[in-house]
Amino acid sequence: MGWVDSHCHLQLDDRDPAQLLSRATEVDWVVVPGVDAKSSGTALDLATRFPDRVLATAGLHPHQASSWDEQEFEISELASRAAAVGETGLDFYRNLAPPEDQHHSFEAQLRLAESLDKPVIVHCRDAFADVYEILERTKTGPRAILHCWTGGRRWTKRFLPLGCWFSFAGPIAFETGETIRLAAELIPPERTLVETDTPYLAPPPHRHELNEPAYVSFVGATLAEVWSLPIEQVSAQTSANAGSVFGR
Ligand SMILES: [Zn+2]
Repeated sequence: MGWVDSHCHLQLDDRDPAQLLSRATEVDWVVVPGVDAKSSGTALDLATRFPDRVLATAGLHPHQASSWDEQEFEISELASRAAAVGETGLDFYRNLAPPEDQHHSFEAQLRLAESLDKPVIVHCRDAFADVYEILERTKTGPRAILHCWTGGRRWTKRFLPLGCWFSFAGPIAFETGETIRLAAELIPPERTLVETDTPYLAPPPHRHELNEPAYVSFVGATLAEVWSLPIEQVSAQTSANAGSVFGR
């Protein structure tokens, strides 16, 4: 089976990326998102080292949003050579940057994605209303990949008409993931991606281990159950979606 892991931070993991990739035998390729200028540069280095397996993205994570003005120049240059902008977005759960700085950085990166005509990876934690308002107002929904989607049915119904992509990670397979599974029922397979968010959020049966790209199949298997589809079809569809959104 050929999966695409649409979000894995191989460059934020101490383990050897060559090993993690080589044991992900059922994964065709992965997307390595930057979280600041430095990690975006490292992601691009990985894409150069593993051209058949790795795509890189360049952006500034909401946790670090206060440094957008400092990092804008470098990130914009890196993004022009990357497959997508991000990860950006809003995180009002950890609130590591003031909300106004997060808004400023997120909107600037949406404009960057538009000017480069690239997709944008969006982190949304406890920030559904604000992310919705911004994507709706800026009409950037169709280029937005909602990474590690944890919205319930109500938010999913609101985001769907924006034309976004929904990327599911380990939490959909958690025992506590029923809200996410009920929401996934509403999302057409044609709008869906799968990811691991390596090294975080490993799905069962690896729940308390470090995550890695090979585990993306557990996320896909959960979607196959939710949609009552053969797992091969989920793998083929989500991989085709990843190819079309990331232009590969
Ligand atoms: Zn991430």
